[in-house]
Amino acid sequence: MAATNMNKDKRKKAVIDALNQARSSELHAIHQYMNQHYTLDDMDYPKLASKLREIAIDEMRHAEDFAERIKDLDGEPTAEFSEKVVKRQDVREIFGFDAKLEDATMDMYNKFWELCRENGDMLTASIFERIIGEEQAHFDYFDDTDTHIKELGESFLARQTEGAAD
Ligand code: FE
Ligand code: FE
Repeated sequence: MAATNMNKDKRKKAVIDALNQARSSELHAIHQYMNQHYTLDDMDYPKLASKLREIAIDEMRHAEDFAERIKDLDGEPTAEFSEKVVKRQDVREIFGFDAKLEDATMDMYNKFWELCRENGDMLTASIFERIIGEEQAHFDYFDDTDTHIKELGESFLARQTEGAAD
């Protein structure tokens, strides 16, 4: 019985560690995207800026979803960022940079989905599965926008200078 409990604690700890790594990457994404929101606003691209703000708020929800699950498992939600925020990026580099970030996040969450299943935690696996879907939507937006900027350049950017989207 004691051995079984120890095993269970180990499994739970592995899931909590994965959730905290995920939370840490969300905290980074929130601040990276908010920073880009200010940069794009300063450069007078309100449409692009408002979309970055919207996506940063999605990442806040993700960070909160992970924290809630960590608390349910009696863990301590981290406040550490996975990486430093890169500041003062050019409008031409932001979207390719963010697409790569989302792609790396999906790879990580796919591994965590598997780790949760291996450790018998289907509920946490389902949280990762739902969030992977949302990161895919972020990736698609960043990648499409990067392609538009590369292919259309100034004519695309000129259309982003009027009123904020929505
Ligand atoms: Fe996220
Ligand atoms: Fe995302």
